Amino acid sequence: MKLDKYSFGIGDRFAQQGEAQLKAIERAREAGIPFVPVWNKSNREHQIIHSSPADTRREADQAVSALGWDHPYHVDADHINLDTVDPFLEHSDFFTLDVADFIGSQVSQQEVEEFLSVADQYTGVLKIPGIPDPFNISRNTLQEISGNFLGAVREAAAIYQHIEGKKGEDNFIAEVSMDEVEAPQTPVELFFILLMISYYKIPAQTIAPKFTGRFNKGVDYVGDADQFRREFEQDLLVIDFAVKSFDLPHNLKLSIHSGSDKFTIYPIMGELIQKYDKGIHVKTAGTTWLEEVIGLALAGGEALEMAKSIYRRAYDRQEELCGPYASVIDIDPSTLPLPSEVDRWQEEKFAGTLRHIPGHPDYHAGFRQLIHVGYKVAAEMDNAFLEMVRRHSDIVAEQVVTNIYDRHIKRLFKI
Ligand SMILES: [Zn+2]
Repeated sequence: MKLDKYSFGIGDRFAQQGEAQLKAIERAREAGIPFVPVWNKSNREHQIIHSSPADTRREADQAVSALGWDHPYHVDADHINLDTVDPFLEHSDFFTLDVADFIGSQVSQQEVEEFLSVADQYTGVLKIPGIPDPFNISRNTLQEISGNFLGAVREAAAIYQHIEGKKGEDNFIAEVSMDEVEAPQTPVELFFILLMISYYKIPAQTIAPKFTGRFNKGVDYVGDADQFRREFEQDLLVIDFAVKSFDLPHNLKLSIHSGSDKFTIYPIMGELIQKYDKGIHVKTAGTTWLEEVIGLALAGGEALEMAKSIYRRAYDRQEELCGPYASVIDIDPSTLPLPSEVDRWQEEKFAGTLRHIPGHPDYHAGFRQLIHVGYKVAAEMDNAFLEMVRRHSDIVAEQVVTNIYDRHIKRLFKI
């Protein structure tokens, strides 16, 4: 199974907006950007919502049949490992092998030596075509990189083989992800990680390294955009060279776990992949849920009251809700509006505070992030929340399409 050049990962916490999400992808296609959709959901998210991988598959299939979509589409078992992959096997055809926790894990001396005997040919001056300055690779560098990443890639191979054993070769797409860590991987490290991926025979079609800067959920990039540009460009060139030098799928491409809303760096990514004619997988987070809350707020009346009540409950349970996301959110609690103040807001004020329009006087990144992680509160409302969202499905869908197409895709490719 081959992944198309441009793929867009979409999250949908409550599995209600599949059609609206697909409409946004369809709009991109009409504008000449042939994205294929990948519905992604992690085990963590399923557990919090009490949903199952079958629900994501059902949502994707239904959206595709409702819109008569006749291009590929996929369902991503996001951030799985050996402990969590099994419930996804039947329903997913895209697997994000998350081995971040295995960075630095022990590998036997013999296995390290065996790998080093293959990697040794790259010691000395390493020139990557397109990157002006060559890299100096010492035996020490190699040992250090192996110490950090060999165990992680070996684990990815174990997960890959487990999935292959159940689904069969060529019946799924594999991504290797190491993004949920503090320290970014350098282009040189990426080069040797790709050598390891080839060495352990993982036919990965996408790789998600940790880039420099913070990729907080649902808000803009925080970091040095120029450094990101340099790193991203070098990573593209490293992948190009690795694909030509190692035994790796020719369509291997970068996967950006963007956490959504990385408005500052989307144009940089779009410009560079077009410059080198490369593909990309842009994974976004479950921010469609925020568009549902915005839609409720705009609908007014009871729906607006529900949006306010979601905020109040999330505000009261900040620690609990933010805990699992500590490394991917930054909220200064002292800047958050008090629920009693929010209770007095009109439709537009609530929507404008939550909606991510950079420079909008009402936009509040902390408010947005808190509601982003507050989906558990809505999950606890069970049918009351879902019924309200369905009752206002038109206004909600409009928010979802505008968010994905206008705010994300149009920034990536200057359409
Ligand atoms: Zn990720």
